[in-house]
Amino acid sequence: MPRGVGMAGELYSVRMRAAAGGPHEAGGRHVSGAERIVSRLDLERTVARLVRRAREHPLGAADFIQVTVERLAAGRLGRVPSLPVTTLRIGAGGPRAARDVAAALLARAGVAPAVAARALSLLANGPGPGDSSMRGAVLMDAQTGRRLEPDQARGVRVSRLDWAPGEQRRLAEALRRAGALAGRDSAERIGDALAVASKAARAGVLAEICWSDDPDYTTGYVAAPRLGYVRLPGIKAAGVGRGGRVFFVSGVADPAALARQLEEEPALVTLDGVIRAPLPAEEFLALDDRGA
Ligand code: AMP
Repeated sequence: MPRGVGMAGELYSVRMRAAAGGPHEAGGRHVSGAERIVSRLDLERTVARLVRRAREHPLGAADFIQVTVERLAAGRLGRVPSLPVTTLRIGAGGPRAARDVAAALLARAGVAPAVAARALSLLANGPGPGDSSMRGAVLMDAQTGRRLEPDQARGVRVSRLDWAPGEQRRLAEALRRAGALAGRDSAERIGDALAVASKAARAGVLAEICWSDDPDYTTGYVAAPRLGYVRLPGIKAAGVGRGGRVFFVSGVADPAALARQLEEEPALVTLDGVIRAPLPAEEFLALDDRGA
């Protein structure tokens, strides 16, 4: 058991996914998903909470709820420091302007401009088969734009991760103090995505872009070890049900091994990087130019 993560004894990964109109595999509409890593003492309470979360989700009543409980092998829990969080102000240019900023950020992180453009249009159109959304992320070569994920319909799902005890509350307080929560922002939602991005960065992913396929949630982000987690409000127009996630990698010899690491290596995230007050996109890009 690693020290300093505030958890002792047997640990369990608890994962929930819920859909309406049947299971996801049978074409059901995704309603809710969440996961935790908890000690045995908290196991039953956590299962009950996740079932309640699925049943009371604002996207509608789930008629399929799957909860998976898995004991983690002793000593296998990694630690992941969270990326610093910056929220950008985009100005009046709407999604077009936000996507231009995303492209500039991806270029700085080492993604070829044509590849960044390909990823942006993939997310705009729906990266799954028949222009649908995917449950996981696209894995894309940052230089050639080739898709590397072993299963292109499902994508790579970052899994078996959670915040260390108390850390998500600290994140929520820091986001609130920084004035980074506006409109439909929720600290929980940011925490979930920040955990995914931080685990991916730690595993060697060069950069990431994401926006939600939830029609009401219009803030996306670009993340990279060099830039941190950079939130882009209004990267999508309200009411649009298309979105997704792309992980860019460079020089990865075995994409399937990276996918397994992202999916299967259990990790707890600790709050590490600064949480900045919102700032204009140009200001952040200028800061980055100076290597800050
Ligand atoms: P969300 O922000 O949860 O709406 O997710 C946006 C997109 O990211 C989804 O449509 C999926 O393609 C992808 N995604 C969601 N959760 C994960 C995950 N745990 N790992 C990788 N990709 C994910």
